[in-house]
Amino acid sequence: MDAFHKKEFFQTAIKHWFQEEKRSFPWRLNPTPYTVWVSEIMLQQTLAAVVIPYFERWMRRFPTIESLAAAPLEEVIKLWEGLGYYSRARFLHEAAQEIVSIHRSKIPNTLEGLKKIKGIGSYTAGAILNFAFHQKASAVDGNVARVVARLFCIEEEISPKVLQSITKIVEEILPDSESWIIMEGLIELGALVCKKAPECTQCPLQDGCLAFQRGKAEIIPPKKKRPKITHLKRFVFLIEHQDNFLIQKVEGKKVMSGLYEFPYLSDNVFYYPEQLQFIKTLNPVSHSFTRYRAELFPSLWRAENKCDLKGYIWADRKELKNLPFSSGHRKILEIYENSTH
Ligand code: SF4
Repeated sequence: MDAFHKKEFFQTAIKHWFQEEKRSFPWRLNPTPYTVWVSEIMLQQTLAAVVIPYFERWMRRFPTIESLAAAPLEEVIKLWEGLGYYSRARFLHEAAQEIVSIHRSKIPNTLEGLKKIKGIGSYTAGAILNFAFHQKASAVDGNVARVVARLFCIEEEISPKVLQSITKIVEEILPDSESWIIMEGLIELGALVCKKAPECTQCPLQDGCLAFQRGKAEIIPPKKKRPKITHLKRFVFLIEHQDNFLIQKVEGKKVMSGLYEFPYLSDNVFYYPEQLQFIKTLNPVSHSFTRYRAELFPSLWRAENKCDLKGYIWADRKELKNLPFSSGHRKILEIYENSTH
């Protein structure tokens, strides 16, 4: 197949396959720049099935950019609780305020304009231009990079330089009319068929795929070296005084910033000024976030008095339920609640 016929073949095959096979998601029903933006940020590093209820809750609570911009950050983070990578929620909130104040509540419709918005990179910008503004633009995420690397048998690791070449190939493949269908089709094909373990027998592009023809589909792209995992051990204290608990808000630029946690001992020093009465230990909790694996060892203690401690607040059980907690400490709270019934 020469280059021209190959391009035509890819376009036709992707379009037919996508029209038959595309999954139905709430963000695909009536895509607007705002819904595409929010869904794409939620979908980063998160499975679509996990995102659906979060997306639906979000759109009920923040149906417009203005409503998101006007909400307190704590409420935004609470709605994100459990999705992980909380900087995504903080950036969405900050960016919404920026769009309202600088762009009169309109999400920009150019690549340059979009990339200036906090948290929007090349892929998200491309996705918004395609799905919401119906413009011809490449949107290369990990899935698309994998599909294209296989179609053209690119055997190198996907570095920024390789990604640039892949982006150029995608721009070549996109037709002038209805390019967004081909772009979304490629993304979907990477998610459903040309997955990490490719299902070539189900693939509409088999006849034009070099990696398949050369028996290399399984080994392209080569596996990246995994980042080193850091193991953490933390002793977590549930300090109770008449159904109130001592908690702290994680501040600064930490991974868990904006979330609440119980006091704990590891790299920091925790000191309670009065003697505490030990009540019991609770079941340990394992908890992974970004490149960390944490083992949490919780225990329950009773305080005679509610001492004021810098950086900590006391919250009753109802407040604990409504505040955004890191998922490890949320699990501890659930274990505690179950142990009292
Ligand atoms: Fe991927 Fe296999 Fe299809 Fe090639 S034939 S695009 S490797 S699923």
